[in-house]
Amino acid sequence: MKPLLYVRAGSVAEAAAAHAGRPEARYLGGGTNLVDLMKLGVERPEVLIDITRLPLDQVEELPDGALRIGATVRNSDLAGHPLVRERYPVLSQALLSGASGQLRNVATTAGNLLQRTRCAYFQDVGKPCNKRVPGSGCGALDGVNRDHAVLGHSEHCVATHPSDLAVALAALDAVVEMAGPGGGRTVELTEFHRLPQDSPDQDTVINPGELITGVLLPPLPGGTVSRYRKARDRASFAFALASVAAAVQMRGGVVRHIGVAFGGLAHRPWRARRTEAALLGSAPTPEAVARAVDAELAAAVPLRDNAYKVSLARDLACEVLGSLTAPT
Ligand SMILES: Cc1cc2nc3c(=O)[nH]c(=O)nc-3n(C[C@H](O)[C@H](O)[C@H](O)COP(=O)(O)OP(=O)(O)OC[C@H]3O[C@@H](n4cnc5c(N)ncnc54)[C@H](O)[C@@H]3O)c2cc1C
Ligand code: SF4
Repeated sequence: MKPLLYVRAGSVAEAAAAHAGRPEARYLGGGTNLVDLMKLGVERPEVLIDITRLPLDQVEELPDGALRIGATVRNSDLAGHPLVRERYPVLSQALLSGASGQLRNVATTAGNLLQRTRCAYFQDVGKPCNKRVPGSGCGALDGVNRDHAVLGHSEHCVATHPSDLAVALAALDAVVEMAGPGGGRTVELTEFHRLPQDSPDQDTVINPGELITGVLLPPLPGGTVSRYRKARDRASFAFALASVAAAVQMRGGVVRHIGVAFGGLAHRPWRARRTEAALLGSAPTPEAVARAVDAELAAAVPLRDNAYKVSLARDLACEVLGSLTAPT
């Protein structure tokens, strides 16, 4: 049996010190993904650094109206926070569409962003997987790939990112805050998760030993409305086949602010910049919305089993954008 050291960190500095010089150390949030992967033999850490007692469990309003979400804020607490429900319903809806009540009570903000793909080949240590063992091949490429990516994939990996929270944060221009051996830094959420290219073992741009300390949510322009919609195999306890998060401000019948992101389609939340550019400053008739969504999804390259995702994502996006831009 492999020995495992458990450390409970009392401060960010203590957590970083416990990680230093130990590439096989892992921070432990709610453990709902990490511990599952340890049971499957996918993760084999030597040290678990429990960060759930760090003072990072608050949602704080900043003077400019932004919200700072601590890294260890539980998914249920974030979804139910009055300021989140009032100002960012898309975020609350995305969280509540994920996992189950019990899991959300334990899962943390940072852990949700850093959860690993649900690709069945990644989770099966008997199968080839470039993400788990670089250079071993991709079992899903010519295997069963119904749940996999249609955008931004490579010959090395066709996995999708499973987080619902990350999709909403991508549409909201959120920023990830990190602390590491070299000090603190911030990265826009849309740049935090990577496309697989030829190194799918790296899900994100986080460096070894870096700790997510929080997520910054900028204020939205007044009157912005937002929504999340997710298609899945079951009504609960199921990951997105496709999802869309959108935040829109209308003025005088014209789109004045727009953020749109897709989930379930790519290795990272997919910010739909082409859709946004097509609609910004114009009147969003149903035809214009459909054209704008098609402009984004024209880049899709479906695999053998997942062409259905393109029309599914199109229908979700047209419905969500149609509802957010409809005259009241
Ligand atoms: C049956 C089931 C269904 C699910 N359905 C959904 C769903 O529909 N949608 C969805 O979005 N999610 C879903 N999930 C995933 C669930 O939301 C994640 O497991 C959870 O959010 C992970 O959070 P955690 O705090 O438990 O992370 P952990 O398991 O503790 O950690 C995950 C990873 O993040 C790292 N980590 C944690 N915190 C930090 C930090 N502060 N800094 C640096 N690294 C850190 C850990 O080292 C680990 O690598 C489901 C899970 C299960 C088991
Ligand atoms: S899609 Fe990615 S995670 Fe899945 S088997 Fe291929 S390399 Fe591994």
